[in-house]
Amino acid sequence: MRRYSTFNWGMFYLRQQFPGASVTSWGRSAAHNKAVGGRDDSQHLGWTACDVVWDDRTRPPLEVLQHEATKVGLEVDREADHDHIEIARAYV
Ligand SMILES: [Zn+2]
Repeated sequence: MRRYSTFNWGMFYLRQQFPGASVTSWGRSAAHNKAVGGRDDSQHLGWTACDVVWDDRTRPPLEVLQHEATKVGLEVDREADHDHIEIARAYV
């Protein structure tokens, strides 16, 4: 529960900093995670990861987003069409 609270409050903080963000994927069942090519150890399975897309011209530079994410114990993996945000692996 504590880990989940870290994720939830961290995402709320990021949403305040970057209002152009929308979540397209959050918690996943094992079957859905497999169907979309998620890793076997994906934090989507524990509902402590989400995928974020951006309104036009609102996607922050990765270093800016990562800097803010680090403040709340989260980290970012940038993909071509979305940013994957999860609890920092140092805290898992
Ligand atoms: Zn993801």
